[in-house]
Amino acid sequence: MASINKTCLTCKGNYEVFDADQSFYQRVSAPVPKYCPPCRMQRRIAHRNERTLYRRVCDLCKKEGVSIYPAGTPWPVYCAPCWWSDGWSAKSFAMDYDPSRPFLDQWQELQAKVPRIALLCLTSVNSEYTNNAGDNKNCYLIFAAEQNEDSMYSRLIMHCKSCVDCAWVYDSELCYECVDCRGCFKCMYSERCQKSTDLLFCFDVRDSQNCILSVNLRHKQYCIENVQYTKEEFEKKKKEILASRESIEAAKKRYAQLRGQALVKYAFQTKCVDATGDYMFNCHEGRLLFDTTSAKACKYLADAEEPIDCYDMNNAYYKPELCVDIMGVLQINNCKYSSYIFYSNELEYCDSCHNSNSCFGCIGMTKVNNCILNKQYSKEEYQKLRAQIIESMKKDGTYGDFLPPNLSPFGYNETLAKDFFALTKEEALARGFKWQDNISTGTVGKENGKDIFACADCSRNFRITPAELQFYQQMQVPLPTKDFECRHRDRMAKRTPRRLWHRSCQCKIGHDHADKPCANEFETAYAPDRKEVIYCEPCYQAEVV
Ligand SMILES: [Zn+2]
Ligand SMILES: [Zn+2]
Ligand SMILES: [Zn+2]
Ligand SMILES: [Zn+2]
Ligand SMILES: [Zn+2]
Repeated sequence: MASINKTCLTCKGNYEVFDADQSFYQRVSAPVPKYCPPCRMQRRIAHRNERTLYRRVCDLCKKEGVSIYPAGTPWPVYCAPCWWSDGWSAKSFAMDYDPSRPFLDQWQELQAKVPRIALLCLTSVNSEYTNNAGDNKNCYLIFAAEQNEDSMYSRLIMHCKSCVDCAWVYDSELCYECVDCRGCFKCMYSERCQKSTDLLFCFDVRDSQNCILSVNLRHKQYCIENVQYTKEEFEKKKKEILASRESIEAAKKRYAQLRGQALVKYAFQTKCVDATGDYMFNCHEGRLLFDTTSAKACKYLADAEEPIDCYDMNNAYYKPELCVDIMGVLQINNCKYSSYIFYSNELEYCDSCHNSNSCFGCIGMTKVNNCILNKQYSKEEYQKLRAQIIESMKKDGTYGDFLPPNLSPFGYNETLAKDFFALTKEEALARGFKWQDNISTGTVGKENGKDIFACADCSRNFRITPAELQFYQQMQVPLPTKDFECRHRDRMAKRTPRRLWHRSCQCKIGHDHADKPCANEFETAYAPDRKEVIYCEPCYQAEVV
């Protein structure tokens, strides 16, 4: 694959722009990006605050509620019903473009005026403390989550009931401290398990029931450390583990050892052809795809569903097509360098715009065409002015990349960026990001919460809500000793990072390669110094049946 080498303006690292990339950029009339793929992703998700919640008053109806913005932001913040109402118009903030000044400076002025939505939350019931979420009922502190009930303290859970402290868990019930599980019932402290019931400290177990501390199992029951036991022996062991905080901690340590030695496939992927990345399903012809489903001819994506011909996207759903460098989108076509745009076409440098076409540098607009800086133009005027602005942005070097760090409405430490690219305050500021010094302490929670605890890691205060207490009692587990942020961080550490290394299969003998080591090579998110045994697809399938 032919490519040119470029130096990233942020990290000074080298990155490749392949011939195929160049033809893609030409096809969508976008310049070649000036930053490397990880720096590009960092910029995008530094515009996404999912979990840092504050209490503040809606600047329109004056009711107090929950918001991803603290009090005192330059822009007004409206509660969702007010923001979506006819009680205000984004067009009233229209600005004339001033060709004598940098365009993005003018964008920032507009940003300081246009109201922003308190939470991105749709049709939920009794789930005030949720964000980037929809159709939830009786949920508390869940994020990037849809159609859940009675669930708490989780990121990316879908169609779950009574799940607590989970991440990337789908179609499951009564699960606790699970990561990357699907179709599970009453599973705890487990990862990558599917269609299973009553698992405790299990890794990569499928179609199984009543197993403890087991890895890479299929169709088993009553196994402890992968050894077959009787029902009585299993019940006894389960009781022993759940007897005390100390015995659970001991089991956690044992699990970490077993999990470290488990067999893993080079990528957590199913039905993918010619695609590199991790946590992929049904992806074709792709590069560096993470947590992505059904992508075709896409590169540098994370958290995306059904995208076609898109480069550089995060949190993109409902078939985005022909888009470049965007974040937080639903069903868009031909859009670039924008955030939170839904059901729209041909938007550039737009933020929080919906059901709109052909807009440039607009914020908070709905159902409009041919607008620039929220001002209405005729089609001809729009095209002429847009070309003029792009020309001036090319001159000052700002065209062709996502909205720069200083235009994020959030401090770096409030955003998803800190999950994937940890930076100190000094490092963040040096890279042009903002920082929130008075970050939410996590005690925004329900006022009827009982006791206040101090996190064992960061010593921040946290509460245990009555619903939560009931869950721990039902599952017979002790109260957590850390706050939600630290628990979430511990779960994130169980997943692979969003980068790849070139490695070869570690299978020594057997299978098709008989008495020789397997010759298969691949791109994997498991760094070479990790303990897990990394297998190619055929060797893994032959071994884990
Ligand atoms: Zn870089
Ligand atoms: Zn309101
Ligand atoms: Zn903590
Ligand atoms: Zn192999
Ligand atoms: Zn093999």
